Amino acid sequence: MATAARLLLLITVVASVCFCSSRGEEVIVGLGDELATAPPGGGAPFCGSLRLAVEARNIVGWKTVPPQCAEYVADYVTGERYQRDSDVVINEAIAYAESLKLSGSGKEIWIFDVDETALSTLPYQANHGYGVQPFDNPSFQQYVAQGSAPALQPTLRLYRRLLQLGVKPVFLTDRTEDQRAVTTSNLLQQGYCNWEKLVLQPVGLQASTLAFKSGERRMLVDAGYVIVGNIGDQWNDIRGSPACGRTFKFPNPMYYVD
Ligand SMILES: [Mg+2]
Repeated sequence: MATAARLLLLITVVASVCFCSSRGEEVIVGLGDELATAPPGGGAPFCGSLRLAVEARNIVGWKTVPPQCAEYVADYVTGERYQRDSDVVINEAIAYAESLKLSGSGKEIWIFDVDETALSTLPYQANHGYGVQPFDNPSFQQYVAQGSAPALQPTLRLYRRLLQLGVKPVFLTDRTEDQRAVTTSNLLQQGYCNWEKLVLQPVGLQASTLAFKSGERRMLVDAGYVIVGNIGDQWNDIRGSPACGRTFKFPNPMYYVD
């Protein structure tokens, strides 16, 4: 009987462990639900944790900022914290660039995303809830067409340092070929100059950011370029193959691009 009791106890313990493990997995799988379950009023602790999870790519595929975090995100992107976070990223990128031993071939390049990396869409976002409202492509394209997007100054600082060091900038953007003229004008007006290439998407291309940018990087490498760095506000700007020397994620808690 004693043996039977011990066996029953063992079965109970094993069953309990399996149950706990199963519940743990459910919590992990359900992490994305955090976006829909913000507490009333949001609050800095909750929304700050959400922002960190977004920046670390623990939450993906999200559509909009939960309304409970509207004020938090607006305060963040218009305040000192966004500037500080951006400066930290750029300072690290510059330190890395300064540590490089260049070949002298002139083939080393650094890839920059455009929107929310080189240029800011905050003037547009201010009128559209800083990510709370669903993305509206027509109005966003109107903003791009104005050619008035301001430079993100930390990124411009990196850009200028790279030119001094002899690393050539390449812009790689989801903007389309029919926006080349306005994009060129906007970049020049904001202080970006002397880039090696400005690569835009063909009009009508049906590809994810990840697929498009990976494919373009492959063509750059095949053409003999060495991608020493890559910076973008979306993980899909910097993920995928071919890999770059280093990648840098610029802050953006307002929207997610596949
Ligand atoms: Mg971008």
